[in-house]
Formats: sequence, structure tokens, C-alpha cells
Amino acid sequence: MNKRKPIYVTQPFLPPLAEYVGYLEHIWDSKVLTNGGPLHQQLEAALCNHLGVDHIALFTNGTIALVTALQSLRVTGEVITTPYSFVATAHSLLWNGIRPVFVDIDPMTLNMDPARIEAAITTQTTAIMPVHCYGQPCDVGAIQRIADNYNLKVIYDAAHAFGVAANGSSVLKHGDLSALSFHATKVFNTFEGGAIVCPDAKTKLRIDQLKNFGFVDETTVVAPGINGKMSEVNAAMGLLQLKYLDSAIQRRGEIDAAYRDALRSVRGIHCVERNGASTDNFAYFPVLVGPEYGSSRDALYDKLKARGIHARRYFHPLISDFPMYRGLPSAHRENLPVATRVAQQVLCLPIYPALLPEEQQSVIDAIRGQ
Ligand SMILES: *Cc1c(COP(=O)(O)O)cnc(C)c1O
Repeated sequence: MNKRKPIYVTQPFLPPLAEYVGYLEHIWDSKVLTNGGPLHQQLEAALCNHLGVDHIALFTNGTIALVTALQSLRVTGEVITTPYSFVATAHSLLWNGIRPVFVDIDPMTLNMDPARIEAAITTQTTAIMPVHCYGQPCDVGAIQRIADNYNLKVIYDAAHAFGVAANGSSVLKHGDLSALSFHATKVFNTFEGGAIVCPDAKTKLRIDQLKNFGFVDETTVVAPGINGKMSEVNAAMGLLQLKYLDSAIQRRGEIDAAYRDALRSVRGIHCVERNGASTDNFAYFPVLVGPEYGSSRDALYDKLKARGIHARRYFHPLISDFPMYRGLPSAHRENLPVATRVAQQVLCLPIYPALLPEEQQSVIDAIRGQ
């Protein structure tokens, strides 16, 4: 049993290599490696079509997309966000000299609890940065109503929400901007990559300038932009990946269903419901290990690891517990009781298209105590 190859929480989704070589030949022929080349343009168009959005600006990664989204809207002061996310969410604020203000999460959706936003608003607040955690859509209506009342921008960290729709429409259309990540571990990957979904052509133009040092033409620089451009090899990977994405997500959906079925009867194991989306991407499979399970989340994590199963404690520690955040008044654990409990109970189980049924069964057996 210990000789089995390790099972990781995710495995990058790789289309056939031979087809990728075809794209590389195009790049070698054209000698255009980056700076908005033909594959970059093709991928933007293909993603708009696939995601059902009008404008998209590709980036070198999701973190630079978040940093640039904040820059483009000139967000300053304080931004209300969630402690229950990947650390890049809050880091993008610090890189803009913005103070994050953490609010607690909803115990069902694990997203920022809209009912707690108003109490966190001060005269310094300029924006809200929610996360569609695990691809579960935020309560976009409630968040927008608060933003409208207080004249705040809304920037979604949509790194988990590729292809997710609610009520039949892409969640990426909400707020002022949404940032995506195409990192190797995500549902759709370009090795490294990211994007900003923009509401109109003017916003996209400004963002495209900001990701290219602030150049508007050969000699004019209008802003202290950054280098956030996606290269042609990354864009090629994206174009190829898109061809195989529907079947990959379908396979993820089958794995999700099999876990739910097998774990329903296990006392103390609570599968986080996915009921807010009309189209899911099955990016993660989080379970909460409750007190009735009989052993702690960390004991289960260690037991799985001893069997070569590398589940992950996303998101533990909370962002608000990292040294650069924990001194903030909003980072106190008393302010974040739900996020604190969930971070102690959560375990993300392996889910990826190439996960074999017998591998999934070994995860289930270990959790069931077999
Ligand atoms: C992956 C991720 C990011 C960062 O994206 P990169 O492309 O790795 O820079 C940001 N936020 C969340 C919630 C993520 O999961």
C-alpha cells in the first residue's frame, strides 16, 4: 500500500503534448513571443466567448491582475475583504498601500458575509474585495447594493470561479472588475497566467496600458504601469486547454458526486454544499471535519499523508493570522469566529480530471476509517 504513487490535492491539467508543439511551431515561425501577439489576441477572443463576457485583459498571473485591477480604479485607503482566501488576495492590497479590513464569512457558503460589511465601513473605505471561494458565487446582489449605497468599488477575486455561472449568467460580470488566475493548479491553466474581466472597451484599454508599463504609444507613458503581459507560449497553452476543458470539468463533476455519495454517511464529515451556482467548475472538494468525526482535522490530514494522500488545509492559516496582517484591529480572532472555526476544520480532498476511481476510493476508505 505504501508503494503507491502519491496522490496530490490537484494535478495540473495537461492536454496532449503533440498538439502543443503545433502551437510552438507557429510561435517559432512568427517570431512573436509576447506583447499582445496573435495567440494572445486569439485567447482573449476565445475566453470572452467561452466565459460569456465582453472584454478580457490577459495577465502574467492572477496576483498581478489583482494588483493592476486596484491600480486601474485608483483604489486607496481601506478595502473590506475576507480572511478566508489565498494570501494573494490581501497581498494585492498591501502592494497598493491599502489597508485590508477583514470581515467574517458565512458558515454555509464560506464567502464574505454581506451582513457584516456595513459595520466595517469607515470614512477611509473605498472598495470591497470579495472572493468566490472554491468557485461558490458570492451574494453579488447584496454586495452591489451596499457598494451602491456607500459609493464603493467592487473587485472580485475570481481566481476560483473560472466558468462559474449563477442564474445562467457568468459570475465574472459582477462588480467593477473580476480577476482570474490561470495558475497550474487551477481548473484552467496557462502554466502561469491570469486575467481581468472588464465591463467596457475603455476600461480594458486602460488596463492593457497599465500592464505594459503605462505605454499608450511608442513614446508616451501615462502611468507608472507594470509588466503584467502574458506571453505567447502561455496563450498557446490556454488555447489548447480550452479545447479539452468541458470534458475535464465533467470528469471533476463525477468525482465531486462520488465523494458526496460516499461521505454522506460518515459522521462528522461535512461536505461543503455547492448550491449557489447554475454552472459549477468543481475546482475544489472541501470537507469540514467536525467534532463528531472522532479525530481532529489534523489527525485525518496526517493519516492521509501517511498513506501517500496529500490533502490540503486550504485556507489555514487564515490570511489575518499571517505576520503582516495579524496586528490589524480587524484581524482579531474574536472578529472572525466563523472563519477561525472553518480554518481549523477544513480539508480539501484530491480532485482533478486524471484522478483514477481506485485512487479516489483509497481517499474515501481512509476517511471512513478503513
Ligand atoms: C491562485 C489564487 C490567486 C493568485 O493567482 P496566481 O495566478 O497564482 O498569482 C489569488 N487569489 C486566489 C483566491 C487564488 O486561489
